[in-house]
Amino acid sequence: MPQYTGRFAPSPTGPLHFGSLLAALASYLDARASDGRWLVRMEDIDPPREMPGAASLILRQLEAHGLVWDGPVLYQSQRAARYESVITRLLEQGDAYYCRCSRSDLKAMGGTYDGRCRGRGLPRRGNALRVQVPPGTDIDFEDIFQGAQHSALDRDVGDFVVLRRDGYYAYQLAVAVDDADQGVSHVIRGSDLLDSTFRQRFLLERLGWVPPVYGHIPVAVNRQGQKLSKQNLARSLNSHKPEQNLYQALEALGIPASVECGGMDAQGLLAWAVGRWRRDCVPGGLAIPAPEDT
Ligand SMILES: [Zn+2]
Repeated sequence: MPQYTGRFAPSPTGPLHFGSLLAALASYLDARASDGRWLVRMEDIDPPREMPGAASLILRQLEAHGLVWDGPVLYQSQRAARYESVITRLLEQGDAYYCRCSRSDLKAMGGTYDGRCRGRGLPRRGNALRVQVPPGTDIDFEDIFQGAQHSALDRDVGDFVVLRRDGYYAYQLAVAVDDADQGVSHVIRGSDLLDSTFRQRFLLERLGWVPPVYGHIPVAVNRQGQKLSKQNLARSLNSHKPEQNLYQALEALGIPASVECGGMDAQGLLAWAVGRWRRDCVPGGLAIPAPEDT
């Protein structure tokens, strides 16, 4: 059996909130309960969306909650050379091509890209790079929490972007490459990323790499049913009350605190929870209500 390696991979678009704590905690508990490594990766490849200082703030928030990672933090912003080498490989394999279609062209296609730039031989400059999804591409996998998953990727998504026309590497590419390079065996994250998994698995297979096991926990939603996010003003996690935040997050993951937790600090609570972590205690479905005060 290869060793378990899990990871938490936030984007530094803002501080952690209750929803991101759930994802961090679930991946941490699943890794530690399997005697595995737990890595933190900063997904800072989209500077226009990022908030200055958020990356270091996130790391301090994790530490305040006892969520201590193994090894150095990997920053995607330092991985351009590696992503570039993978792009070269996709081009050499004949799996990718440049596309000049505008947002309105895409809209007119009804959401699934129709592959019209495939034979055009366009240059890189000012264009996006798409990876080709051949007809009949079915992606199937068993999700730890959500069960059997299926996508007819060519029809559901079509050829998708791996290098943006503004020159930034696409999220799907960076994540697939990093999970492979870091030897990630288990990806535990929020159900909002379930859709991305099909594209990431496709890329991994295209590059000859074994995809990890995936588990998508329900995401925390506010009273309006919206996922907690910076856009809907989810509150930043208060690092001065880590125990209370952990109590709430553990309860949401099916591990309600008991009397024996009284007086425990964050690290004590985590150690206690590792011993009680059961994948089948996590509530089913794609969403769970966030506590009122988050
Ligand atoms: Zn095109």
